[in-house]
Amino acid sequence: MGSLDDKSALITGASRSIGRGIAEAFGREGATVAVNYHSNDEAAEETVETIENEGSTATAVQADVSEEMEAKELVETVTEEFGGIDVLVNNAGILKPSTLAEMDVETWDQTISVDLRGTFLVTRFVIGDMLDQGEGRIINIASQLGFKGATELTHYSAAKGGVIAFTRALAREVAPDVQVNAIAPGPIETDLLDDTSDEWRENKKAEVPLGRIGTIDEVVPTAVLLAGDGGDYYTGQTLSPDGGDAMH
Ligand code: NAP
Repeated sequence: MGSLDDKSALITGASRSIGRGIAEAFGREGATVAVNYHSNDEAAEETVETIENEGSTATAVQADVSEEMEAKELVETVTEEFGGIDVLVNNAGILKPSTLAEMDVETWDQTISVDLRGTFLVTRFVIGDMLDQGEGRIINIASQLGFKGATELTHYSAAKGGVIAFTRALAREVAPDVQVNAIAPGPIETDLLDDTSDEWRENKKAEVPLGRIGTIDEVVPTAVLLAGDGGDYYTGQTLSPDGGDAMH
């Protein structure tokens, strides 16, 4: 018996890193899993294979979550294939550091489009059916930087702060049928940190009370909690596996 038996879940950006970790854990908990990805089809297929090898059902679905029609088709495809979506995890995100003085408008727009608009779009196309079902769980992956901000990340911090506010507003709007929560991880060892310098990493470790960069496995249990029975009394919350980086 898994905590997500008979549930179907859509996880955006699940080809790699945190999204993949959540997708695989949901599969182990018995959920049927849709693995959304943007461009990395091989990695998405690997996620699907792992979930299937561990005994659950999964499918990979390509879509750019920042594009309205692609987000709509993503939700329609998964709904048709699985007969509905019980759990949505809005995880897809990008991060391209730049000072505000040097930031071109395209970089700003792209970050807001994927990290904030993408969360709105996929949720927009899922929410009607969840309300009709009378239940559903939405988990938005924000960031500790949505609380504390960071240099060279005004766009990312604004998008993630927006995700936290979106979570709270929607949680009020769709309660008690649908529960909406966020997770705000701290620095986590993934491809997203590929472009960071050694100096950045050392400074970051010094800044985080627990003194290190976290791992994907230290974020995933929070998503499992919020998706299953353990999350029954949570809505509008932002939980923070972040080593104490942002205390709020
Ligand atoms: P990652 O390693 O860069 O993986 C990003 C994932 O998002 C990939 O699966 C990628 O798909 C997908 N993606 C990117 N743009 C997309 C789009 N337009 N449409 C659909 N999918 C898209 O990132 P991560 O570190 O796992 O981060 C996952 C989430 O956690 C993000 O929202 C991030 O902001 C948040 N977060 C991360 C950290 C951290 O330190 N790592 C900290 C706090 C919050 P492809 O493989 O096809 O490119």
